[in-house]
Amino acid sequence: MNLIFLGAPGAGKGTAATKLSGLLGIPHISTGEIFRNNISTGTELGKLAEQYISKGSLVPDDVTIGMVKARLSEADCAGGFILDGFPRTLKQAAALDEYLESEGRKIDRVVDIVLSEAKLVERLTNRRICAVCKLSYNLKVHDINDSVCPACGGALIMRDDDKEEVIAARMAAYHKDTEPLIDYYVGKRKLVRVNSEEVVSDTFANVLAALGIKGADQ
Ligand code: AMP
Repeated sequence: MNLIFLGAPGAGKGTAATKLSGLLGIPHISTGEIFRNNISTGTELGKLAEQYISKGSLVPDDVTIGMVKARLSEADCAGGFILDGFPRTLKQAAALDEYLESEGRKIDRVVDIVLSEAKLVERLTNRRICAVCKLSYNLKVHDINDSVCPACGGALIMRDDDKEEVIAARMAAYHKDTEPLIDYYVGKRKLVRVNSEEVVSDTFANVLAALGIKGADQ
C-alpha cells in the first residue's frame, strides 16, 4: 500500500505511521526526520534545511521534492511506503503524482489525522523525542521524568521547533500551504479522516479501521 499521512504538526502522524510501518512491513518516510538526521550529521542539505526549520518555515519545494523522489526510488519502497509530512504543499503533491505516474505507481490512500488546535499545541510543547531511536513521548502521558528513553536508554530531548515561539509559525504554514491538500485529495477520492484521540492506541485503531486493515490482535 502506498500511503500518505496528512495532518497538522502534533496530530500524531509520526506515531501512527511508525506503528503502521511495523505492522505492514513497509518503510515509514518522514521528511522532517530525514532533515533532522542531515542537520545532526552536518550535511549541506542539513545546513540549508536548518535555516527554514528553525523558523518554523517550510523547506523549499525543489529541495524537498528531489529528496523524496530519491528516497522513493530505493528498493525498499517497491512494495509500498508511508509518507509522513510529505507532501505539504500543492506543488509537492502534484510533483509526487507526476513522479509516481511516470513509474506506473500511485497513492492508494491519504489519511488525514484531525485534532483541535489547542490539543495540537499542548502535544507539541509536551513532546520529547529519543535522540537515538527517535521514538516520541508525551510528558503528560508517559512516565519519562528521568529523561531516558524507556525503549533504548537514549537521551530524551525537546525538538527546537517544538518551542512555543516556533509553533505559531509552523501552524501558520500548515493552514496556508498544507490544509489545501485536504480538498486536493478529496477531489481524487483518496482521503480518509481519522480523529486523533487521547489514547494513542485508539488513534491507531481508528487508522486501521479507516484503511480496512486488520490489526495484529484482531
Ligand atoms: P515534521 O517532523 O514533519 O514536523 O517536520 C519538521 C520541519 O521540517 C517542518 O516544520 C518543515 O520546516 C520541515 N519539513 C518537513 N517536511 C517538509 C515538507 N514536505 N516540505 C517542506 N518542509 C518540510
